[in-house]
Amino acid sequence: MNFPVFDLHCDTALAMLGKDFLAEGTLKKNQFHIDLERASALPGYAQCFACFTTPREKFPGRFTVEDMFERELAVILREVNANGDLIQLIYEPKEIELNRNKGLMSAILTIEGPAGFGYNPDLLENLSQIGFRISTLGWNEKNPLTGSHVTGGGLTELGKEYVRQAQKNGILIDVSHISDEAFWDIMDITEAPIIASHSNSRKVWDHSRNITDEMFLAICKTGGVAGFNMCAEFVGENPTLDTACDHIIHFLELDPDGKHIALGGDLDGISHMPEGFTGIQDYPKFAEKLLERGVSEDTVMDIFWNNALGVITQCCM
Ligand SMILES: [Zn+2]
Repeated sequence: MNFPVFDLHCDTALAMLGKDFLAEGTLKKNQFHIDLERASALPGYAQCFACFTTPREKFPGRFTVEDMFERELAVILREVNANGDLIQLIYEPKEIELNRNKGLMSAILTIEGPAGFGYNPDLLENLSQIGFRISTLGWNEKNPLTGSHVTGGGLTELGKEYVRQAQKNGILIDVSHISDEAFWDIMDITEAPIIASHSNSRKVWDHSRNITDEMFLAICKTGGVAGFNMCAEFVGENPTLDTACDHIIHFLELDPDGKHIALGGDLDGISHMPEGFTGIQDYPKFAEKLLERGVSEDTVMDIFWNNALGVITQCCM
């Protein structure tokens, strides 16, 4: 049994920029975790591509964070356009299933850390029109919107405005990387489903990037999802695909119908992954392992495709 893959988070745009913004590889074929040649073997594929920026510059003094944001966006658009026979950028969620029926993959634009556009909520309307459908409020630093899982600290007034403007413009709020305090601040004001695009279970593996049972249940209550992250550091000690399954199975204890669990591999943003998983081509192995562990085919299909599609469809019309 082979399942389509809907992955809520990757850093392939950053990987394609290369060390000095020199393109290294193409989306069609590269040495990274994701390329279209390998993804073509899946019976359906939708990938959220993050434009990642942080105030802690990757290239200090050489490029601004605004440069980074624009160049990541440009590289995604360029590579998707260059491979239009394989993948298309989607504007309306309904295009994702239409693409799958036509044998086409789908690309969805997302924001990881709004540093690249000055944390300005007024720009979210334009960004939504360009096609952005998901946004975190930050990365690992404290910023004008929020504290992070590293720094602690809650949502600021500007952060609340950011949540309001994003939700008004059909952009899903993504709580991955945020502090616990700010998570609950968002829960107090949200008027739409909340996702954690690439976060695992803190009960299974105690890491601040993972979410507690209470946080997962609160996400379920909003109608949102948590996407499973393949970063070994967030999965366990020397993790295998069995360790990865432990996170999904724990979430299924809290969400027995399995409607709030998805995938958010963080591919191309991480170096170590569970043993046996080396890139997009290995998701079928993860599905196999979940079936072996007793997860039903219908639930695997929900985790691999339906749940992410559902929340995007509901929020991003
Ligand atoms: Zn991340």
